[in-house]
Amino acid sequence: MKIETKCVQEGYKPKNGEARVLPIYQSTTFKYDSSDYMGKLFDLEVDGYFYTRLANPTVGFVEEKIAALEGGVGAMMTSSGQAATLIAVMTIAQAGDHIVCSAAVYGGTFNLLGVTLKKFGIDVTFVNPDDDYETLSKAIKPNTKAVLGETIANPALTVLDIEKFSKLAHDNNIPLIVDNTFATPVLCRPFEFGADIVIHSTSKYMDGHAVSLGGVIVDSGNFDWTNGKFPEFTEPDDSYHGVVYTEKFGKLAYITKARAQLMRDLGSAPSPQNAFLLNLGLETLHLRIIRHSENALKVAEFLENNDKVAWVNYPGLASSKYKPLVDKYMPLGASGVVSFGVKGGRQQAVKFLDSLKVAAIVTHVADARTCALHPASATHRQMTDEQLLECGVSPDLVRFSVGIENVDDIIADLEQALNA
Ligand SMILES: *Cc1c(COP(=O)(O)O)cnc(C)c1O
Repeated sequence: MKIETKCVQEGYKPKNGEARVLPIYQSTTFKYDSSDYMGKLFDLEVDGYFYTRLANPTVGFVEEKIAALEGGVGAMMTSSGQAATLIAVMTIAQAGDHIVCSAAVYGGTFNLLGVTLKKFGIDVTFVNPDDDYETLSKAIKPNTKAVLGETIANPALTVLDIEKFSKLAHDNNIPLIVDNTFATPVLCRPFEFGADIVIHSTSKYMDGHAVSLGGVIVDSGNFDWTNGKFPEFTEPDDSYHGVVYTEKFGKLAYITKARAQLMRDLGSAPSPQNAFLLNLGLETLHLRIIRHSENALKVAEFLENNDKVAWVNYPGLASSKYKPLVDKYMPLGASGVVSFGVKGGRQQAVKFLDSLKVAAIVTHVADARTCALHPASATHRQMTDEQLLECGVSPDLVRFSVGIENVDDIIADLEQALNA
């Protein structure tokens, strides 16, 4: 099936006489006829549901759909994108280990790795994703366990050269984790370019309507965890009856370990209701993300030709230095977020934002309605000016999330706000 068909048809497939639409299994718990069968579930001997923290049918069907969209062998949904990043990294790394991460990542990822995981003993080196292979290689240490980057970085909008990063990871026998939130699997499927694990904040385009928080981890099944660097995968897990993940689960070792250890212990499980809403969003993702991309390109071209605008950053612009990477990794479009600087700097940016009428000021990005944000005074306000510049966010930067309205109305709104 093509990606558009997968958006609509994958996941829940009703049998004769069952509900046509994915039902919401709003139940924490599941009933069995014998304690013996229940025991087998707990031993991971048979497949089934026992407690919604670990698995739930509504959630499970949506996980199947997302795994199919990305081309992975399995997926696990989480309560938020932050939880997905946390569990994706902690399934691989523990105290004493080290991660290499693109400096152009979401502010929440930057803090999670740079502050909170450091407190847990997992060290990080942030690298400039545009550096050449040789320079990037210098960041790898003997205890580096993973490399992480974003397909299109939020909000810097740098485009990750996925093949360069997968080579960096694989030359060092470690996996590449790609946060594919902004591109979505409709525009880019990182596994096709060598990524091993994909994560998403489903709160963005996947949900698409800004109604439910969520995250997901998708496993390509391609990484060889038996290469000697990952004893947690190849030695018995005492916390799970001595299971050896690579022996027992093969290609599903990573995603099973994520669920059996960390979802069990951290408990950041999605609700069935939110999974249902996410599924509704996914059914139109292929239509929305193309429209977002088309509108964003027109908005970026308008801004580029407006004399009140200091600079425009949209990777799909012909003038963008990332255009060759866009053509290679996401030929259908470069997603819906445009950033730009209003001439006059920080204060003019705030004045411009306050003058918008169609576009609303919200923290969120990547839903059907056009919205705008000034990161330096919102999402990134914990950062110093130096850190801001390091992750590609200048003080005058406006992050403009182009919705799926008629683009003429969006451009007219921009024009009147710029004039104001
Ligand atoms: C929003 C976002 C996250 C965090 O997701 P939440 O669902 O808000 O927890 C992670 N990565 C990227 C690229 C994001 O845009």
